[in-house]
Amino acid sequence: MRRKNKTYAEREIRRRRSNVILKSLIAFLIVVLVLLAALLIYETKIRTYDNPFAEKLKEIQIKQQAALENGGKGDDDLEALKAKANLLATQYDYDGAIELLKSQPDFGKSDALKSLANSYQQTKNSCVSYPIDQITHVFFHSLVVDDAKAFDGDDDSAGYNQVMTTISEFSGIIQQMYDKGYVMVSLKDMCEIGDDGTVTRKEIYLPNGKIPFVLSQDDCSYYHYMQDDGFPQKLVLTEDGQVKNSLLQDDGTVSIGDYDVVPLIDTFVNEHPDFSYHGHKGILALTGYEGVLGYRTDEVYKTREPDRVTKYQQQFFDENPDFDYDRECQDAKAVADAMKAEGWEFASHTWGHIAPLQHTLEEVQRDNERWQNNVAPIVGKTDVLIFAFGADIGDWHPYSHDNEYFDYYKSQGFDIYCNVDGSTTHWVQFGDDFMRQARRNLDGYRMYYNPELVSDLFDVDSVWDSSRPTPVPQMG
Ligand SMILES: [Zn+2]
Repeated sequence: MRRKNKTYAEREIRRRRSNVILKSLIAFLIVVLVLLAALLIYETKIRTYDNPFAEKLKEIQIKQQAALENGGKGDDDLEALKAKANLLATQYDYDGAIELLKSQPDFGKSDALKSLANSYQQTKNSCVSYPIDQITHVFFHSLVVDDAKAFDGDDDSAGYNQVMTTISEFSGIIQQMYDKGYVMVSLKDMCEIGDDGTVTRKEIYLPNGKIPFVLSQDDCSYYHYMQDDGFPQKLVLTEDGQVKNSLLQDDGTVSIGDYDVVPLIDTFVNEHPDFSYHGHKGILALTGYEGVLGYRTDEVYKTREPDRVTKYQQQFFDENPDFDYDRECQDAKAVADAMKAEGWEFASHTWGHIAPLQHTLEEVQRDNERWQNNVAPIVGKTDVLIFAFGADIGDWHPYSHDNEYFDYYKSQGFDIYCNVDGSTTHWVQFGDDFMRQARRNLDGYRMYYNPELVSDLFDVDSVWDSSRPTPVPQMG
């Protein structure tokens, strides 16, 4: 009886125990499910800014640094080295990847490294040279973040509807271009500039089926007139060194995130490194008259010369009594430096957003001097001129030095010139001392009136933002 009782008691204990275990397990599973759901909601509903690839690279760099300091070389180093080489090869820099492996002292003894280098070499050998003359160039303005604010029917709405692209459209376009095999290259991948100013074709080798293209963005200045239309305030540098946008919300708080071309492309490349050739990204065509990248860096914000201060600038001074010009320039330069480190480049869009041929040569010179004095100190010198209004300084014939505008710009160090021609998929022209390329506007106007002209890049119907008012207003 006692024995039986004991067995019963034991069984009871065991039953209770397994009950407890079962309940704990269920509770644990519920917690895991709740966490997963929270993660899913966070990933999908709340914009997420952590870049897994960048994080991984950072981890690797920290490990490498630690290993260096310890003077040791462990397996982690090898994995980090392979990851680094793989990233180079993923971005089609096979020579760089092989060089990195060969720079290791134990390369000769390591079959693993030798076979990795061999695989890069084989991939490189299978690449084909893409015809430079057939490279397309697409451009955007600042992206529309808030359709309701941009298309609210005020005086600026029509212009936004014509020349701008919404974030959802941009994301759709970039995804489709990536899926089709497009790879971002730099204008400098297309041509070589000699010390004597001569310009010659370069070669771009890519795996079969990959298509190089150039990306540019115009007027990334966040002009004063755009202030109440839902655009970002500026590009900012986060504490962990990423370039993001700051965006003023309705409740007065500022949100830091991907609200324009630069951070959206950075995030996209972090997730799809093979969208970028050798780590190169786009080129920003900047004016100077209201500063750059959302920073009020032009000299007029310092001198406040009454005959130059516009109504918008006066309003800015009134609203920002604590404005610190030197600090503004420092912050802008920090952002520009971080962008350059991330593969971005800068071009002149003329200081005053001018069509050169509508001005005298003297006026054009003064405009360019203002760009050199106010914009170059922030973003660096550039040899790329991306014309405002797409207004070129000559017809389709190659430039000659008889053209005093070309003669002047070339003497000021401009080697690459870009106009606008959306009617063709590509237009590239080489002279002895210049390269010229036409750009295609992927904006509301183009998508609404000529969807067939962009079908090589993406399908308009599937990216079109239905909250855009239609018809998109005619130009002129
Ligand atoms: Zn422009």
